[in-house]
Amino acid sequence: MPRLSSISCVIPCLNEDANLNVLLPELIAVLRSLVPVFEVIVVDDGSIDGTALSMSRWADENPEVVYLQLSRNFGKEAALSAGLDAAGGQVVVTMDADLQHPPALIPEMLKRWEGGADMVYAVRATREDESAFKRVGTKLFYQLMRESGGMRVPENAGDFRLMDRKVVDALMLLPERNRFMKGLFAWVGFRAEPFYYSPPERLHGASTFKPFKLFRFALDGLTAFTTWPLRLLSIAGIGLSALSFIYGLFIIINHWLYGDAVQGWATLIIVVLFFAGINLISVGVLGEYIARIFGEVKNRPIYIVRTQKGTGLADRASPP
Ligand code: UDP
Ligand code: MG
Repeated sequence: MPRLSSISCVIPCLNEDANLNVLLPELIAVLRSLVPVFEVIVVDDGSIDGTALSMSRWADENPEVVYLQLSRNFGKEAALSAGLDAAGGQVVVTMDADLQHPPALIPEMLKRWEGGADMVYAVRATREDESAFKRVGTKLFYQLMRESGGMRVPENAGDFRLMDRKVVDALMLLPERNRFMKGLFAWVGFRAEPFYYSPPERLHGASTFKPFKLFRFALDGLTAFTTWPLRLLSIAGIGLSALSFIYGLFIIINHWLYGDAVQGWATLIIVVLFFAGINLISVGVLGEYIARIFGEVKNRPIYIVRTQKGTGLADRASPP
């Protein structure tokens, strides 16, 4: 059984001032009961509420709290990466700021780690609380993701995770700019165990993940981890060519054998429009992949830090 020496907790947040002021005392009490050496890294993903002021104060007054302010809103995935880069603990926990990831579950998750798991990921036991639209969309997404080269993205797992240092180090080796974390967590492998829980309601404020943003997020995941859409286009092309060849034969035979006058403006226009549609869809799918390639080759940093308050475990470690 590994002996726990330190825990880092990474919290990406966007305008969560009210929630953070409830979450931090609760979280710190839980962490303190587990291990004397810990840090809470609050990554401010471009908040425009009172987060900067109140978290700076938290960091000043509590040596365990590190406040990392990004230079603008980079998105939750980038904020998570920033937190993981900064985390210096032997065990790292990632969680949301809105209290949908209860700190009280951390001791249970830690027990799994002590039992030999490298990563423990919280899985929502039900999605009953969500709209039918979102449930169907999520189901479809996980179904489509399934074809992703050997790895399997676990269904309904969020970003409430506890992981060993070696998992964090592996994640940091992945250089991509498009950080679809659920996929990256699955890609690195290791011994991952699910942990079932029922997420409570968000305490204050509203989720920023609206349907359109979720759709774009799903596209990020699909293009980052699957290539079957490209193959599907080739297969569709072959299938449609075969069909049009058979239809062509049918028209010729019909004309020769039965003297059917070749006519059919309606068929012509339908076929033309149908293929125009297929062509545009294909170009669109190709474009999605090319856009990601464009994003990657620019090789820009994943996030930029504006300020940091407090010293984390990684910086505190004394040189040998
Ligand atoms: N978040 C972030 N950057 C963003 C959007 C969200 O850091 O651009 C944070 C947010 O503050 C919260 C977590 O990500 O701590 C989850 O967000 P939310 O509760 O809106 O998502 P949901 O629970 O609906 O998945
Ligand atoms: Mg939430």
